[in-house]
Amino acid sequence: MSFQISNFQKLRQELPDHVNIVAVSKTKPNNDLLDAYNHGIRDFGENYVQELVAKYESLPKEIRWHFIGHLQSNKAKFIVPFVHLIHGVDSLKLLSEIDKQAGKIQRKIDCLLQIHIAKEDTKFGFDESELDQINFHLLPNVNIRGLMGMASFTNDKNMVRAEFKTLKQLFEKLKFKLPDIDVLSMGMSADYMVATEEGSNLVRVGSLLFGER
Ligand SMILES: *Cc1c(COP(=O)(O)O)cnc(C)c1O
Repeated sequence: MSFQISNFQKLRQELPDHVNIVAVSKTKPNNDLLDAYNHGIRDFGENYVQELVAKYESLPKEIRWHFIGHLQSNKAKFIVPFVHLIHGVDSLKLLSEIDKQAGKIQRKIDCLLQIHIAKEDTKFGFDESELDQINFHLLPNVNIRGLMGMASFTNDKNMVRAEFKTLKQLFEKLKFKLPDIDVLSMGMSADYMVATEEGSNLVRVGSLLFGER
């Protein structure tokens, strides 16, 4: 299955105007992305560094590339030159490395801090106390734009909603320290509506737009 424009249009209509959509294209071939691009899509989300670099090199330069996966520190340098927004910054080590690589090429990188909201141990991210300890002024080449989180993989909508609520509260709290933050990235194909109701303004949707992986 290739890019489903009708699903995108439905999604766009369902979501309020202030909610932006990242089309998650990981594992999908260039032609599917190009199809979406030709329908006007400009924001694409990718999880793997090598795949992202390859796609960046062969697809139109107007694309805004969102890195949404788990980024290993030693690979930050490969995407820092062109990435639009890094969603999954989940450690101080990674944040410092992005800052260092960005400084080398005098670019300022927009980042979202990933917060561990799910009950499962498997999801990466900061917790609230770790967030409190970050000295943002020591990182001149990163621009913290907000937070990102993934809810538990469950059919329990109440649990998912509660996790998104927690993230939204953390976002509002962080705003006291960083008044300019404006991006709350939460919601995927299965839970974008709940996420939006709980305050998301950036959803990351893959399978609904490109089919199952
Ligand atoms: C794959 C992925 C998505 C998209 O998931 P779908 O269920 O296909 O919409 C969103 N966010 C992250 C972090 C992902 O890894």
